[in-house]
Amino acid sequence: MIFRQLFDAQSSTYTYLLADSATREALLIDPVFEHARRDGALIEELGVKLVWTLETHVHADHVTGAWLLKCRFGSAIALSKDSGAEGADRYLADGESVVFGRRSVEVRATPGHTAGCLTYVLDDRSLAFTGDALLIRGCGRTDFQGGDAHRLFRSVRDKVFSLPATCLLYPGHDYRGLTASSVAEERLYNPRLADAVGEGDFVGYMTHLGLPHPKLMAVAVPANLRCGRPEKEDTMSKTDADWAPLSCTFAGIWELQPDWVAENSARVQIIDVREPAEFTGSLGHIMGAKLLPLGFLMERKQEIAKDLPVVMVCRSGARSAQATVMLGNAGYAKVANLAGGMLRWRGQRLPVEGGTD
Ligand code: FE
Repeated sequence: MIFRQLFDAQSSTYTYLLADSATREALLIDPVFEHARRDGALIEELGVKLVWTLETHVHADHVTGAWLLKCRFGSAIALSKDSGAEGADRYLADGESVVFGRRSVEVRATPGHTAGCLTYVLDDRSLAFTGDALLIRGCGRTDFQGGDAHRLFRSVRDKVFSLPATCLLYPGHDYRGLTASSVAEERLYNPRLADAVGEGDFVGYMTHLGLPHPKLMAVAVPANLRCGRPEKEDTMSKTDADWAPLSCTFAGIWELQPDWVAENSARVQIIDVREPAEFTGSLGHIMGAKLLPLGFLMERKQEIAKDLPVVMVCRSGARSAQATVMLGNAGYAKVANLAGGMLRWRGQRLPVEGGTD
C-alpha cells in the first residue's frame, strides 16, 4: 500500500492518496481544486495511475479538484447518492466498495454533518477516512447542508466507533496540526462524542455552536454540486504557464505563493495596488514593490514592463486578483496574484519595508 496525506493550508483540508503498490492503481479522497497540479505531480512521481477521486461530502469551504483531475488523468468521480451533486461517474451507497487494484475501500454512510457524508474504510480496517463526520477531538457542524445532530451522533457511534479500537482515523480537516487519531482515542477523549457523552448532550452542544458560515460557501457549494466543473469551462485556462510554480484558482486566477515571490523578487515586477496610506501603513510593503493603486492601474499601465513577469499585491489578495485579470486582459502574458496578499506575507514572517509588528 502506498499512502500519503496532503494538506491545504487555506482551508485546513486533508487530501489522501491511496495506491495498491502491486498494480499501481490509486484513488484520491477529497482533492482540492487549487492543488490539482501538486497532486498530479505526486501521482506522476510515484508512478501510480489515478482511477478514482472520492468525496467524503459536498464541501462548503473549498472546491474539489475532482473535475480537473478527471480532465488530466481520466479518473472517475464518485460520491454519495445522497449528495445532490451532478456530473459524477458513480453514486455510492452504504455497504458498497470502491476497488483500486487488489485493494478496496468500504463505503459507510455517515450522514449528519451533511445529508450525503460518507466514511471510507480500508479493506483490512486499519484506516478510515471520516471526512467531517468525525474530526480529531471534534466533529463537523450540523447547522446547514441537511445537517442533523441526532443523525451525526448515530452515524459516529454505529459506523465509526464500531470499527476496531486500533483502526486509525484520518479526518477531512484539522485546524490545530493534528494528522490522525484512532477509534480508541476518540471513544475516550472526543469531548462531543466519547462513549461517556449522551445523545442529548451532543445535540445540545451542537445546537449552540453559533458559528459563522464558511467564507467560501457561496462559491464552494454550487461548484461542488457540479463536482468542481467550472460553470464556463472555456473561461478557465487548463494550460499550465511555465514561468513560475503557478496555481490556478477556481475563479481562473493565476496565483503564486509568498515564499516563491520572496525568493524570486529580483526576477519579477512587484506591483502593489493598495492605496498610498496602506502602502506606508502598518503592514508595510514588499521591498522593491511599486505602488500603483487599483484605480489608476489601467491609465498608468505603461509604467509596467511587458517583457518581465508581474506579481500583483494587495492587503488580502482580492483587489490584486482583480488587477491580475485586468492586466491579463490588457495583453500582459506573465502576470500572477500574490496568494493571500500582505496578510499572508506578514503571517509567514517574510521581510517588509516599513510597517509595524
Ligand atoms: Fe464539511
